[in-house]
Amino acid sequence: MDSLDAFARGKLDALEAGSLRRRLTPTERGPGAAAARGGRTLVSFSCNDYLGLSHHPRVIAAAQAAVAAHGAGAGGSRLVTGDHPYLGALEAGLARHKGAEAALVFGSGYLANLGITPALAGRGDLVLLDDLSHACMWAGARLSGARVLTFRHNDPGDLARTLAEHRAQHGRALVLTERVFSMDGDRAPLGDILGVAQDFDAWTLVDDAHGIGVVEDGPRAPLEMGTLSKALGSYGGYLCASRPVIELLTSRARSFVYTTGLPPASAAAALEALAILEAEPERRARPLALARRFTARLGLPEAESAVVPVLIGEAQAALEISAALEAAGFLVVAIRPPTVPTGTARLRVAFSAAHDETQVDALAAAVAALTGRA
Ligand code: PMP
Repeated sequence: MDSLDAFARGKLDALEAGSLRRRLTPTERGPGAAAARGGRTLVSFSCNDYLGLSHHPRVIAAAQAAVAAHGAGAGGSRLVTGDHPYLGALEAGLARHKGAEAALVFGSGYLANLGITPALAGRGDLVLLDDLSHACMWAGARLSGARVLTFRHNDPGDLARTLAEHRAQHGRALVLTERVFSMDGDRAPLGDILGVAQDFDAWTLVDDAHGIGVVEDGPRAPLEMGTLSKALGSYGGYLCASRPVIELLTSRARSFVYTTGLPPASAAAALEALAILEAEPERRARPLALARRFTARLGLPEAESAVVPVLIGEAQAALEISAALEAAGFLVVAIRPPTVPTGTARLRVAFSAAHDETQVDALAAAVAALTGRA
């Protein structure tokens, strides 16, 4: 057997050869859409802080007050001593916002998805995912031990065909999709997907990580999860569902039971952000309006969310364009396989209420020049 280091070096060489090696880049985000890297301040179009709330004075003040009063960490799992009252208040707020009976806050969106599917499906059951589902939905599906099948992206007809072929041989069935897809920015046809799932006696879990605060809710699924880390500007994840489901998950979702509770300050910040989000519809309309301004300027299909992909193709080309944009003062990170399918490396452009029209127009001009769309 190779030594551990030889193994690691071999794998790193292979990643490097495919332009797939990842490196960390220290980044300090400021107010607005500023992000400082290597001593330069860039305009970031790569943050998921869609409403600019992570730096909102009221959100910062809520987090600071919570740290001062309750400390930096939760000190234990929710079921032991880590269930600070802010968490219950946040759960009530999220449930109300989503029109659900109840909610459960997890340590992150990733942890929520790792816990939800295995608590509801297991051996002998069927889990069907949209084939562009986020890595953490895949992870939850695989961890459940259920049979895992995919349906074509945003294709209710293909979901129906797959269910018609496989539903009868399984016990419970769970369909997984996203309200807004994280790397393509398109929305699922949720009404149709929920209808098909119901026809085949399947439950549906919708990941709303990139939807909340940015796109109108539309049809609601019986299971809706999301994150506190994007439009809500904080950190943590959640599930909204009926009371019995939430009570079951409280006992049964392993990524909830066996991990430390969210820091009270993260909950306090998210709670304040939720209040601002609900009180300021004009803030919620900004990211989509700016994304549409950008797609119109570049002749791209009209944006459906705050996320716009500019497809490049090869990973190396996407990295070079991203570097050129950085030289011009914009932070637009290239997204490569395996995060996206091979041959679809892209710039993932994320818009925020913190951007202004001038910044968006300047980015559109720079992208047009670098991709030959000018
Ligand atoms: N679901 C989707 C669709 C996501 O894009 C992400 C994060 N990028 C997550 C879940 C995970 O959320 P978190 O960052 O809170 O772990």
